[in-house]
Amino acid sequence: MKDPVLAIEGPLSSAAKDDFKNLSRFRGLGKSLLEISKRLRAGTDLVPPIAALLDSLDPIFTGLDDLPLPKRQERIQKALAILDEYRQKELPGTEVPKVPVAEEPSVSSAPSARERELAKALARNPSPDKVLEALGTEATYIKGVGPKMAEVLSRLGIETVGDLLWHLPVRYEDRRHLKKIRELTPGEFAVFRAKIGGAGRSGRRTFEALFEDETGRVRGKWFHFNERMLRDRFPLGEAVIVAGTIKDYRGILEIHHPEIELLGEDDDSGPREPIVPIYPLTEGLHPKRLRGIIGSALTKFGMVVEDGIPEIPGEPLPSFGNSLLELHRPDPGNDVTRLGAAKTLYHQRLRWHEAFFFQLALAQVRRRYASARAKAFPASPELLERYLKSLPFGLTSAQKRSLAEIAEDLSKPRPMHRLLQGDVGSGKTVVAGAACVVAIAAGAQAALMAPTEILAEQHFATLQKFLSPLGVEVALLTGSRKFSTKTVKAGRLLSDLASGKIQLAVGTHALIQEGVEFANLGLAIIDEQHRFGVEQRAELKGKGEEPHVLVMTATPIPRTLALTVYGELDVSVLDELPAGRKPISTQVFPAKLRRQAWDLVRRELEAGRQAYVVYPLVAESEKIDLQNAIAAAKDLEKVFEGFRIGLVHGRLKADEKDEVISRFRSGGIHLLVSTTVIEVGIDVPNATVMVVEHAERFGLSQLHQLRGRVGRGSERSFCLLISSPEAGSVAGERLKIMESTTDGFRIAEEDLRIRGPGEFIGTRQSGLPDFKVLNLVEDHAALQKARQMASKLLEDDPELALPRHRLLAAVLRGRWARKAGLLHSG
Ligand code: ADP
Ligand code: MG
Repeated sequence: MKDPVLAIEGPLSSAAKDDFKNLSRFRGLGKSLLEISKRLRAGTDLVPPIAALLDSLDPIFTGLDDLPLPKRQERIQKALAILDEYRQKELPGTEVPKVPVAEEPSVSSAPSARERELAKALARNPSPDKVLEALGTEATYIKGVGPKMAEVLSRLGIETVGDLLWHLPVRYEDRRHLKKIRELTPGEFAVFRAKIGGAGRSGRRTFEALFEDETGRVRGKWFHFNERMLRDRFPLGEAVIVAGTIKDYRGILEIHHPEIELLGEDDDSGPREPIVPIYPLTEGLHPKRLRGIIGSALTKFGMVVEDGIPEIPGEPLPSFGNSLLELHRPDPGNDVTRLGAAKTLYHQRLRWHEAFFFQLALAQVRRRYASARAKAFPASPELLERYLKSLPFGLTSAQKRSLAEIAEDLSKPRPMHRLLQGDVGSGKTVVAGAACVVAIAAGAQAALMAPTEILAEQHFATLQKFLSPLGVEVALLTGSRKFSTKTVKAGRLLSDLASGKIQLAVGTHALIQEGVEFANLGLAIIDEQHRFGVEQRAELKGKGEEPHVLVMTATPIPRTLALTVYGELDVSVLDELPAGRKPISTQVFPAKLRRQAWDLVRRELEAGRQAYVVYPLVAESEKIDLQNAIAAAKDLEKVFEGFRIGLVHGRLKADEKDEVISRFRSGGIHLLVSTTVIEVGIDVPNATVMVVEHAERFGLSQLHQLRGRVGRGSERSFCLLISSPEAGSVAGERLKIMESTTDGFRIAEEDLRIRGPGEFIGTRQSGLPDFKVLNLVEDHAALQKARQMASKLLEDDPELALPRHRLLAAVLRGRWARKAGLLHSG
């Protein structure tokens, strides 16, 4: 037999066929497999990995025929899993990778010693359960990780061995080329060999050591230290490798808090770790200590970790486990620059891992959606006609198109999962209202959940205005107004919702509280969906029985991202603003020209219009920011004497906030000073000017959202960004974009380019997994490919039940079940 894997796999797969239906007829299977194994061993060109493979298979085959059927079945599955893993591990290596060897020296065609060892270890410990067990093992299991260290590690998000293995170096230090002391230059990071020429305390808080070679000397300095520890570490005359940044102190070379590796008295070897991984650290964690811990985790578990995902055809990559190993302990042959830039095949392999599991999880969701049943609603009921006729304006063509897409979805007997994207002011609420009408006309209830009370109230006001005249019962359900609405008597709200009397419930999180029940929820709409957690979105959905789901967002997602990030949703886009809007003119003012901005504000106020002044509020400097906003409100009272100034910020209670905002809305307050709490929601058409202080501290998309609070009426509006960024700085560039366009998509693209996708989408809020090496923008091609392959794989094996998918399924359930809580609509 040429191919040993096939030789063994053949009989095993036949026995496993159709869920082991015919297993009882395979008499003497174990015996014949042992014979095949023996024949293979007798082959002349038996390479070590195959021997290891056979070593691990023989005990499984021995005595197989005497076992009861279920046990036999178990063993066959185990053997198949071993073969699968062997194939993934070893067979890619038998093809020469297409990347020139010179560029990637450590990936060669022949299995390296390490890979052989890996295969052996895998053959010993091949089962998916082992892999999962390894990844899920608590970090405290590792030598050197006690309860205290566990706490330190948890600050880095490390709880398990899997987390440790995924804690990848951010860069690498090259210690292969040792310098002579004479060659050192101040400012550089250098590694050199020296002898200890003395060590001791110098002054109360400084410890010094002298490092010498035949060309010169360098003074090492420690400014906080444990004296005894340091003294022990510096035996006079011994050889050390010293690594750190070289400094020049009054003509003398110094190195502060260097890393030291003791070599011993006459040791003339190089450093033990020629390429040193540099890890993200946290307080109380010494680099060497962390390297030791990760090293132990690798030694113990690195060998058994695999992920079972398919290869990209024609693009052989190293195995998953080997990639982790190489990234933590690079072979000396590696190119440090490529390692540091995350450009090796090992990085690529980990990216592929992330892309594939992400898309596999999404594909599962898509399949689930596709097979679910929902109630179908007629697409154009008479009530919808009346609703559209009653609007004081005609729909834009983008609104018409989106509504048609939504109505089409609703007319089908499977649940809609659609994202309605539209810039601020593009008129999403009216479209959402139309969707509700379609559901309500068919006798179902609808719910619209918004992230803040202000937003919920606004939606409520709009929808009530348009829907009540049609005889639709609309109610508002928020934390503070659960029991009183305009249409329903206090206390009756919940029972009217449960009985179906209320046809549309608009609200906040209050909607998903316990005790809130619907008679027949057919359509769930979630506004600003990224502000809700996965669970919350799922809970709203759970209030009905497979309701149709529409999620809305005013944060335009660049087209490059939409498909991959919202891969499980259909997308409608409102890419057109209602006619008659006056463009907002935006201008950046340096702080010293603030007076000019105030003059413009005064002019607007005197013309009877209203204004916003916005202050940034970020977590790190929350206190100071708040003080600034409060102080500014005071100052502005003097600047704008005779006008009423109001202040809202996040520390106010909800009802206090609402009170200020409703006074602003009714015109009782002329100028509203606020932190970013006004970002979403306020719709005051009479407000025509917004001043943003420290504009450079906002993200572009955030500024765009803020700016959308003005320009909502028929008057010309202004957005004045106050900022004094350094000339030519990124911050300055960014603000110029705000001046040059009001196109939310363009701004989003720029924002994405500048801040990267994690920041942009707000990973945590969006429910996206936080990827370690994958970049949703740059790795677009890989994501696309992963999407296709994942869909195909599920088509062939929807339940991931095939033996060769066992590991894949296990990893997906294990690590990715936790990571990929990514269902945007629950
Ligand atoms: P979004 O939620 O997308 O930011 P809204 O739904 O709040 O936008 O709509 C913004 C404003 O535009 C509202 O006052 C709304 O009544 C109005 N509007 C919506 N659609 C149109 C339209 N087709 N023509 C004119 N005004 C519209
Ligand atoms: Mg809106």
